[in-house]
Amino acid sequence: MKKDVRSLSLKDLCSFFESNNYPSFRGKQVYNWLWKKSCFSFDEMTNISLELRDVLKKEFVINHIKIDKIQKSNDGTIKNAVTLFDNLLVESVLIPTAKRTTACISSQVGCSLDCDFCATSKLKRIRNLKPDEIFDQASTINLQSKLYYNRPISNIVFMGMGEPLLNYKNLILGIEKITGKDGLGISPKRITVSTSGISKLIIKMADENVKFNLAISLHSALEKTRNKIMPFSKKFPLDELKEAVKYWYKKTRKKVTYEYIVWKEINDDMKHIKALVKFCKASPSKVNLIEYNNTENSFFTAAKDKIIQEYISELEKNKIPVTIRKSRGKDIDAACGQLANRETN
Ligand code: SAH
Repeated sequence: MKKDVRSLSLKDLCSFFESNNYPSFRGKQVYNWLWKKSCFSFDEMTNISLELRDVLKKEFVINHIKIDKIQKSNDGTIKNAVTLFDNLLVESVLIPTAKRTTACISSQVGCSLDCDFCATSKLKRIRNLKPDEIFDQASTINLQSKLYYNRPISNIVFMGMGEPLLNYKNLILGIEKITGKDGLGISPKRITVSTSGISKLIIKMADENVKFNLAISLHSALEKTRNKIMPFSKKFPLDELKEAVKYWYKKTRKKVTYEYIVWKEINDDMKHIKALVKFCKASPSKVNLIEYNNTENSFFTAAKDKIIQEYISELEKNKIPVTIRKSRGKDIDAACGQLANRETN
């Protein structure tokens, strides 16, 4: 099988040319075509001789994602069904607001976690996305944003399919490409990685001094409730998560954001509110209350507005910043937790 040329670093490409007795600057040219110009065919690399293009074709393929289907929501959200080189599917979403255009991208095909309220968790994890597949989603949505909204993307969130931290190496390489000068040049300050809370990898990121933002899907600060709705979390106790978040802040000086959904009869009482406030006080943090998007699991229903207001007032009383995230793209199943490779028409 031929190797994917996009899995080579600039150094690898230059050495490939050198070892075949061609000047190493050819490596830079090809790299530029691949990354800066998102070129997916050796034939379009016009400053590379025909002979050299043949050498490349014999040795390599250029794998890249394809947009299989686009669905537009009434609110302007666009959901892309993305086909990978091996015909697997993931989804990525463009979310426009007055001031921003956010790309919500996937990190895995399916998901190995079992959050009961999330549609993606019902698809088993098939494989991790490669760094270039992560990059391609961002660059494709960037083009789409320019086309439909006349502006490039301003933000990226890893809140699509999969658990980004369980694809750690490729996530970091993908983000390096997205932020790099020869990639999209987007500041890491505008990127948020959302995790279900894998403590030892949060510590690893802090040690590696990453510059992007971190969001944690908390949903309950009481172990018993969390274990019930996110069964995998039995392996990742809240005490360890709390310590990891403290360490993250100490190293990065960045507040984490806790993502939190309030459900009827699950966490809609004072006991849960108090536990959340206490958890937040352990280390500087913010709370993002997420509107619940229905999936096929009827066990979950959004809580009443009154209790959500109580969450807000308790948090504010304790000086913990709180925002509410309204759902986008619900009519096309593009909202958080609804990505399941399903068509809605
Ligand atoms: N695995 C990562 C990222 C993907 S999920 C994580 O767990 O953070 C992105 C966000 O959507 C998470 O905060 C997740 O808890 C939330 N989410 C999942 N299902 C949802 C649903 N049905 N309604 C609203 N948000 C949901």
